[in-house]
Amino acid sequence: MEMKTYLDLLKILPKTNCKECGEASCLLFALKVFSGQTSLEKCPYLDQDLFPQRTSLKGLSFNQTLENLKILREKFQSLDDFIERAQDLGCEPESTGRGVLLPYLDWLIRIEVNQEGHPTQLVNLSGETLDPRDEILLCNYFIFNGKEPLTMDFVGLESFPHSISKVKTLKIYGEDPLVELFTQNQPKLRSILQRFRVKDFQKDTHGFSFLVSILPKVILKVVYWEGDPEDGLPPGGKVLYDRVALNYLDLECLVFCAERFAERLRC
Ligand code: SF4
Repeated sequence: MEMKTYLDLLKILPKTNCKECGEASCLLFALKVFSGQTSLEKCPYLDQDLFPQRTSLKGLSFNQTLENLKILREKFQSLDDFIERAQDLGCEPESTGRGVLLPYLDWLIRIEVNQEGHPTQLVNLSGETLDPRDEILLCNYFIFNGKEPLTMDFVGLESFPHSISKVKTLKIYGEDPLVELFTQNQPKLRSILQRFRVKDFQKDTHGFSFLVSILPKVILKVVYWEGDPEDGLPPGGKVLYDRVALNYLDLECLVFCAERFAERLRC
């Protein structure tokens, strides 16, 4: 069974967070397996026969992710005009002057700033773990330093150049999980969404749509339609992006925004 990222492993873990592997959660276990800090055998509930070639777990793409993160982190930490960027990108300066606060998904991220005004580290104030992809996304947000005002005109990912391969990824990891979640949780949906920065929720007889801020300048429009069982039409959904979203993040990070939103909704 080939696994390219820790998320592939996470999907087949029981997600009971029983801690028998010595880690605080299944997510942490999956992350540590991929970073080589622990091994698959430590989880007694994992079917080891699924992994005849253990080396495939250290998927190239994940190692590349870590390598990318190292480079991005260095670039991020050497930003000279960080405070100015942070304000333009929707961060709140801390009264102490030693950090800024950034809303991200349903979290608040504190970015520490040293005496030279350079960012040093990202701390999730909720205490939950930021995984390497969160860090890549956040570093990119400041490195891209988008300037073009948001249009609030939303388009599908396929409208962006060179997006063909990412459209499928978005469907598998973002749109399909969201549709499944919305279909299963319709009655309590509004309360699930409350944790997030959601606005403009609109409902009609066919479904609903809303806007959600992943980051202050990265807003997704999520559209869900209920389908019609009598006509054999399944429920469906789509994630749309501001027409100028590529000024703020690259395609991969934009797809990850939807994927991570779906993951956070399940928590
Ligand atoms: S032992 Fe397995 S199920 Fe339990 S927390 Fe670790 S990974 Fe999750």
